Amino acid sequence: MADWGYDPHNGPDTWASKYPQAGGQNQSPVDIVTSSVQPRSFESSLSWRYGPGICKTIVNTGCGWRVDVQGSDSDLSGGPLSDSYELVQFHSHWGSDTSCGSEHTIDGKSFAGELHFVHWNRGKFATCTDAVPSPTGLTVIAVFLEEGEKNSEIEKLCETIAKIPEKDNRTDLPEDLDPVGMYPADHSYWTYSGSLTTPPCYESVTWIVFKNPITVSKEQLECFRQMKKACDQDFILKNFRPPQSLNNREIFECA
Ligand SMILES: [Zn+2]
Repeated sequence: MADWGYDPHNGPDTWASKYPQAGGQNQSPVDIVTSSVQPRSFESSLSWRYGPGICKTIVNTGCGWRVDVQGSDSDLSGGPLSDSYELVQFHSHWGSDTSCGSEHTIDGKSFAGELHFVHWNRGKFATCTDAVPSPTGLTVIAVFLEEGEKNSEIEKLCETIAKIPEKDNRTDLPEDLDPVGMYPADHSYWTYSGSLTTPPCYESVTWIVFKNPITVSKEQLECFRQMKKACDQDFILKNFRPPQSLNNREIFECA
């Protein structure tokens, strides 16, 4: 059984006692103060490619859903990244209602949820396992979720989430599930150095946070909230870590 979660007895305030990195100086998420971000341009623009059929299965982790990817036919590079990164999984954070759910916040504002597309540095590391705890090992694309029109890729996920109500349930995904369909049309982003937002909270992540949210419907958010946690019948109503101190870090803005 996982020794961490989002309840008072095992929630974010308790993580550092078991996972020392969670008490570090470069933790995520953070609040993005838009008046303090630094404009920055890079030699090459951030670009991505995801081959067909790379999203294989979806699993109930007990803290949410995670899509597992066979990412050898994928690539994320350019922008702040010095190497080629490969998609390994994506998942979502959400809240009990639309007033909360995202991990990053903008000028103190929360969104209803936040998708995380986790990529590992295949240019520098032999395996994802090697990359996860290492500086520059990971990059995560974050997409804010706002309640509105439904998203057609999230709809495909919701059809499968109904089949994985309990922890460790897993099912196959349709071949045409496309990560890009869950990215906003406007690709401007913020970037900074941070950590995984779940234990062990390794400080190995180059964050790329899209400035613009995508919309998902009320029903789609409800679908997430109908998943169940481990070892009891409680629903997963919130699974987000609150913002951590920025300390000496800077956040860069890329149009
Ligand atoms: Zn996450």
